[in-house]
Amino acid sequence: MRSVYLDYAASAPLRPEVRDAMVAHLEAGDGNPSSAHAWGRRARAALQGARERIAGTLGASPAEIVFTRGGTEADNLAVFGRAVVCPGAPVVCSAVEHPAVLDAVRALGERGVATHHLPVNGDGETEVATLQPLLPLKPALVSVMWANNETGAVQPMAALAERCLASGVCFHTDAVQAFGRVPVRVDETPVALLSLSAHKLGGPRGVGALFVRRGTPLEPLLRGGGQERGLRPGTEDVTGALGFAVAAELATRERETEAIRLAGLRDRLEAGLRASTPDLVVLAGAAERLPHVCQVALPGAEREVLLLALDLEGVAVSAGSACATGAARPSHVHRAMGVPDEVANGAIRFSLGHSTTADEVEYAITAWRRVVERISAVAA
Ligand code: PLP
Repeated sequence: MRSVYLDYAASAPLRPEVRDAMVAHLEAGDGNPSSAHAWGRRARAALQGARERIAGTLGASPAEIVFTRGGTEADNLAVFGRAVVCPGAPVVCSAVEHPAVLDAVRALGERGVATHHLPVNGDGETEVATLQPLLPLKPALVSVMWANNETGAVQPMAALAERCLASGVCFHTDAVQAFGRVPVRVDETPVALLSLSAHKLGGPRGVGALFVRRGTPLEPLLRGGGQERGLRPGTEDVTGALGFAVAAELATRERETEAIRLAGLRDRLEAGLRASTPDLVVLAGAAERLPHVCQVALPGAEREVLLLALDLEGVAVSAGSACATGAARPSHVHRAMGVPDEVANGAIRFSLGHSTTADEVEYAITAWRRVVERISAVAA
């Protein structure tokens, strides 16, 4: 049986160029980047090189990149780090954030912080006007993701960031899914904080970064050392940072051509799925979407049944968020979009990436047809 991986938004397979760079670095060996001797200096130079390369892809300066243990940690650092700086101030986020932001905001709410959730329309887009009345409250943070991990809907970043800037409010965006897929530049969009994760781009898992614009007050989550300008104490993962830098540069270099190629494959996938299931719903179908993400729903179907049946056909997809897999209820994203439960319960996400081929997409279309035929035969 074939094995077709269409779950890049959960985690992209490690790119060979990344693996080669990481293996070469591990084999060469170095010390602790904080050590004064030659081994330490070698590690420090490698870490600084990775920092400069990642900063270059974003239009940031290297001192604005804080390495973390992934996107979740970067999001938590932004949310809790700002809440500590502005005690008593409210916190605002969109209703469709990844749990890494949403649960952090909820935890603040449980500790008495006022929290506000920006609504989205039926295509999962934040309406900029809903932010305006909250800005005079001087929130510690407004957090709206650059693009949604379930539907791929891209948010109106420039408008949101500019309104916050004009009101002197700190704006954070979780760009974990958007980075390397759509143009993400901090020299063009005035975000104060921005979260990244390496493994969505074919870099190593457990490696990420928070962009912290110069002059943005932030408190660390952890204590214990001066690494990462005191914002992320702990000995740095130099090999991971290097792998992240290689993945970020590759994704940035290939972004435009890959966006065209992947959007073409995604459109073919949607058309192929619809051919055997005409009532298929493409979630956020009218929004600007990431080129590699396609979340579809088969009304009346069970998400878990579809996922397992596709898995038996060798096709790996997910519900929308790896964290949501296994949960039988509609996701918070669908709730916020007003998607009816009988549609939301049958939603699955296909996501494509650097090694996805047209042939794999055709295979997935055929597998889908077989799966829905089997499900209809059982239901009949
Ligand atoms: N934010 C978004 C939008 C994501 O999609 C994910 C991962 O699925 C994360 C944050 C968490 O990133 P990580 O897996 O690096 O912790």
